[in-house]
Amino acid sequence: MMSIATAATDKSVLDMFQRLSVPDNKCQATYVWIDGSGESLRAKTRTLDFVPTTPAELPVWNFDGSSTGQAEGSNSDVYLYPVAMYRDPFRLGNHKLLLCETYKYNKEVTPTNLRKRCLEVMTKAADQKPWFGMEQEYTLLDTDNHPYGWPKNGYPRPQGPYYCGVGADKVHGRDIVEAHYRACLYSGITISGENAESMPAQWEFQVGPCEGITMGDDLWMARYLLHRVAEDFNVVITLDPKPVRGDWSGAGLHTNFSTEAMRAPNGIVEIEKGIEKLSHHHHRHIKAYDLKGGKDNERRLTGFHETSNIHDFSAGVANRGCSIRIPRHVAEEKQGYLEDRRPSSNADPYLVAETLTRTICLDE
Ligand code: ADP
Ligand code: MN
Ligand code: MN
Ligand code: MN
Repeated sequence: MMSIATAATDKSVLDMFQRLSVPDNKCQATYVWIDGSGESLRAKTRTLDFVPTTPAELPVWNFDGSSTGQAEGSNSDVYLYPVAMYRDPFRLGNHKLLLCETYKYNKEVTPTNLRKRCLEVMTKAADQKPWFGMEQEYTLLDTDNHPYGWPKNGYPRPQGPYYCGVGADKVHGRDIVEAHYRACLYSGITISGENAESMPAQWEFQVGPCEGITMGDDLWMARYLLHRVAEDFNVVITLDPKPVRGDWSGAGLHTNFSTEAMRAPNGIVEIEKGIEKLSHHHHRHIKAYDLKGGKDNERRLTGFHETSNIHDFSAGVANRGCSIRIPRHVAEEKQGYLEDRRPSSNADPYLVAETLTRTICLDE
């Protein structure tokens, strides 16, 4: 018999080295940024001789933008500006993760830096205290890009038993979900829950409520942690909004939204005003709600599998086939928030939050 040689590193060996102590003043600072795809994340680490307490204390850094789709080879330095800091759940101790904005050589934003404009809008609308809660759906894949845990030939049984399912025949990859949840809590991300989704190997986690720019920051860092945790399990994450064609659910980024006035007694009146404004800007929102300016959502917003049709705006209480849903308890209490069900799983949370805030808070 011929043996097939495979090289793989062993996490238990790594653990021995991670337990080595490092001097108290040393900090491994990992700079994390969104690359030129607008979806994938990149990261690199440097040693600091102090332990930072705010991202403003971190040095501006740079990277080779020609290797990330963010610059030409002849003028390749792109700047990294740390803007949000988290505890590092992989290295523990004083080590940090820094979410960064990217700027070109001339100090203008790169095309996939959508945070700067989002922050400007959040600053303008700050008096209305906009809150967001995002439900990030995603799918686990084997390293051959096949849905994780699915039979290699054929399909699992049809959808029905999998949503919030329990049991080895219903869910795949719970280890990854559990590890990611803990990593988010440790890091300081406002993660509010998780559940298994309707399609096997599809899961969801929720971040929120977060006020203003923190929504995008926390969600992007939660995505980084998801990819990074899954890497340790040798599993791949996809945010494709329709990873399997046919009678299988797509993946969204439902965005729950409220202002202070919506959260106050009888705020339902404000919620309805917000929905009225949204009804006049459906196409602008669809353009902002996926990675490809509306093209990706064409595969997902079909009017089936608890989605609305991409062409029409609709709203309803407890109706999951609408663009906007007012949760039942919000209608009953006459205060709370609305849910925009249109954003796709690969949408940029900064652009989603900016667009909602412009329409509802700033009448732009
Ligand atoms: P669904 O019933 O649509 O699956 P989830 O429980 O998955 O809802 O998600 C609800 C989200 O709404 C959570 O992320 C939560 O943080 C968020 N949320 C709760 N209250 C508010 C609020 N007042 N404003 C904005 N988001 C909120
Ligand atoms: Mn949900
Ligand atoms: Mn869901
Ligand atoms: Mn939802």
